[in-house]
Amino acid sequence: MTITQERQTDLTDFRDGLRAFLRRIADDFGAGARLSDEHQGCDRIASVEELREGHEDRVRLVRRLQAALYDAGYAWPSGPTDHGGRGLSAEHDLEVERLMNEMGFPSREALFVGLNIVAPAVRHHGGDELRARVLPALYRGDAIGCQLFSEPGAGSDLAGVSARAVRDGNDWIITGQKVWTSMAHLADLGEALVRTDPDAPKHAGLTMFIIDMDSPGVTVRPIRQITGGAAFNEVFLDEVRVPDANRIGGAGEGWRVAATSLGSERSSMSGSTGPVTPHVLDRLHGLTGRLAAEAGPVHHEQVARTVTAVAALRAAEELTEKSWSHTLAPISGSVLKMLMVRAVDEIGRLAQSVLGERIYFDSGEWDTYAWSEFVLGAPALHIAGGTDEIQLNVIAQRGLGLPRPPKNT
Ligand SMILES: Cc1cc2nc3c(=O)[nH]c(=O)nc-3n(C[C@H](O)[C@H](O)[C@H](O)COP(=O)(O)OP(=O)(O)OC[C@H]3O[C@@H](n4cnc5c(N)ncnc54)[C@H](O)[C@@H]3O)c2cc1C
Repeated sequence: MTITQERQTDLTDFRDGLRAFLRRIADDFGAGARLSDEHQGCDRIASVEELREGHEDRVRLVRRLQAALYDAGYAWPSGPTDHGGRGLSAEHDLEVERLMNEMGFPSREALFVGLNIVAPAVRHHGGDELRARVLPALYRGDAIGCQLFSEPGAGSDLAGVSARAVRDGNDWIITGQKVWTSMAHLADLGEALVRTDPDAPKHAGLTMFIIDMDSPGVTVRPIRQITGGAAFNEVFLDEVRVPDANRIGGAGEGWRVAATSLGSERSSMSGSTGPVTPHVLDRLHGLTGRLAAEAGPVHHEQVARTVTAVAALRAAEELTEKSWSHTLAPISGSVLKMLMVRAVDEIGRLAQSVLGERIYFDSGEWDTYAWSEFVLGAPALHIAGGTDEIQLNVIAQRGLGLPRPPKNT
């Protein structure tokens, strides 16, 4: 048997076991409802999933689901066995996401930041003790994570963060303000980028820490959004005491750690953890099919644009699963994010063109006004994880080796 055949057999066995396990727990977690076939029940559809106030039941369900996956060995198949993984490949991880999407399991948005932003940083840069303490907690859903990077004066220019940490024996004392912190209102721990050496060049004076969100001095205030939700927050850090054991990577190495988190965040905004899911495409298909008779030539053009954007995204995702060339690997997250955003925009435009005025007011008709949340959430995707302009800069400078534009032009 060749290595490829062996891998194939292994994946097939894994998939069979996974499918049987998911079937066993499906009812417990409300999986399997194909909403577009039923034309009833909750028709919510969002491009940015928001856990609003009052969604505590949903968060509890998602934690329970994640614990069930972890205990059965499906939360992190590629992870090391001593941290709750099975030592398998990234393909096995993708298989879990794919099958759960296909079978209609609830989205695990509450865990997105912890699993796709915080965990990669701890995994690649954290010491043994920190990894053993934090990774199983995140992967089992016992801990929800948030990303404490952006500040009122530092978003695109992230290396300009001014939250400060000062060493005090075995601890650090952190003071500053973070903003746009998704899930902070639910989070147990946060990955915080702070300045530890104000005299060093700005990228070199940063260090990354895990902050316990229940620590004295942490205050979380929700920010209300256009969609009506309040999924992100301002976070105030007032002399928060953090043990040195919670440092991710060396003092002064925070920028390198942030790059790991950001690369993973951008890639994770596409594929099965992104907004262009089979469920969304299924719903879009149902919508356009149902209302096709009312649509004109503009609508046909929009269908073609949407199909092209989704096909480009899927092709790039497939390339990522196989491998990007050595030169292009560092920009794969930015390329995927740009293609994802374009696909979301085209899907939103198609829904708008089909629905006309029905998207603007709630008549109670199933699968109509619900699309307004998808459309209203789309602009946020041009900003979250780094704006479009920043992704284009990354692609031009890091991928193509073009020079930085001169300042003040
Ligand atoms: C839904 C959502 C969730 C988020 N969640 C989190 C989170 O959990 N944690 C967190 O830390 N942050 C989070 N953010 C914040 C996000 O990372 C920042 O909003 C983003 O990086 C932009 O920073 P800014 O808002 O300060 O805008 P600015 O940096 O002030 O940018 C303003 C405008 O100037 C442009 N610009 C700036 N610099 C350049 C340049 N060099 N070249 C070209 N154009 C430039 C930008 O593209 C943008 O159009 C979230 C944002 C959103 C929308």
